[in-house]
Amino acid sequence: MLNKKSVDDIQVKGKRVLVRCDFNVPLQDGKITDEVRLVAALPTLKKLISEGGRLILCSHLGKPKGEPVPSLSLAPVAVRLSELLEQEVKFAADDNVVGPNAKAAAEALKDGEVMLLENTRYRKEETKNGEEFSKDLASLADIFVDDAFGTAHRAHCSNVGVTKFTKENAVGYLMQKEIDFLGNAVNNPARPFVAILGGSKVSSKISVINNLLDKVDTLIIGGGMAYTFMKAQGKEIGTSLLEADYLDYAKEMMEKAEKQGVKLLIPVDTVVAKEFNNDAPTRIAEGDIQPDEMGLDIGPKTRALFAEALQDAKTVVWNGPMGVFEMSNFAGGTIAVAQALAELDATTIIGGGDSAAAVNQLGFGDKMTHISTGGGASLEFLEGKELPGVAAADDK
Ligand code: AMP
Repeated sequence: MLNKKSVDDIQVKGKRVLVRCDFNVPLQDGKITDEVRLVAALPTLKKLISEGGRLILCSHLGKPKGEPVPSLSLAPVAVRLSELLEQEVKFAADDNVVGPNAKAAAEALKDGEVMLLENTRYRKEETKNGEEFSKDLASLADIFVDDAFGTAHRAHCSNVGVTKFTKENAVGYLMQKEIDFLGNAVNNPARPFVAILGGSKVSSKISVINNLLDKVDTLIIGGGMAYTFMKAQGKEIGTSLLEADYLDYAKEMMEKAEKQGVKLLIPVDTVVAKEFNNDAPTRIAEGDIQPDEMGLDIGPKTRALFAEALQDAKTVVWNGPMGVFEMSNFAGGTIAVAQALAELDATTIIGGGDSAAAVNQLGFGDKMTHISTGGGASLEFLEGKELPGVAAADDK
């Protein structure tokens, strides 16, 4: 269990509480197209409201790069959040985030009321963890609560810098839940423990592979990153994704798996095409891939192999799609893995990002034990790194 002060350990009645949420939601023409992160924030907000806290919410949205970008304003989030909370969430529209509107609104808050600040990344210092903006944020509140797991792997003003200037710093329920699920899975798993890694690059998952090989019983590798492993085994991979600089690393990992008695599974067949295009004709390649072909999904034998390896798993962690799932002709492998997971009697944890989106889009969301709201953060957690956003909270 996470040994940090939580929202259950603080007295908020009559106090101003700055809550760092992860409201980094996808927007299209000012409309929120996926509100999972808003819904995930509600338990903490409702708890603080019911106890009479005066809530000042903050978050980043997208990458405005240190200046006001109207299409990345958090104003639509305030509107939707008001509906979800069934009470007004007042929006403080200051281009410098902590300006006259924010200060006046914070001053006027009554017990149980809620306001939202403008996008924290409108300020240049935010991503540099600068002191001035950290102080500005802290000046609004007595207590700080961090519930933004999605940014916990970054040290920014609104989750780390601010804690130097507030009296009390706690984590919210979402943060607690994420760390508890991921922490239990990795450090105290019911066995067999299987991890599935996919996505485009080996290079972005080096430390994850290395760390997980010390923990899992089986490691399954699919997606674009699998081709570097296949090449390292001496197979021809045509024009498939290859990170030639990581061939030695792939060999090393295969040796490490063997030495540690970890079953390492890589694809035995692939769906190939001559172009990176959903309309390109496809075939199943077993063994070598032709020089003018690229592998874009795992093939049927691999899907069966992976499903079989998952069959008696008791804990599964999955991060990264098995193929180019954005194109329907190459989504079959990712769908098959999601389906296999949905049928298991096991703790199934989806590590955010593309795999979370895929599982939700395919309608398997409620079949999983936990779907993380943070892709990057869960990946860094799986690497065994301490997350700065979590470390900054007060110990219990
Ligand atoms: P990542 O951001 O590293 O998790 O990678 C996710 C991306 O990997 C998705 O956009 C997929 O389309 C892509 N991907 C998965 N498999 C392949 C593949 N075989 N070839 C090229 N891209 C792939």
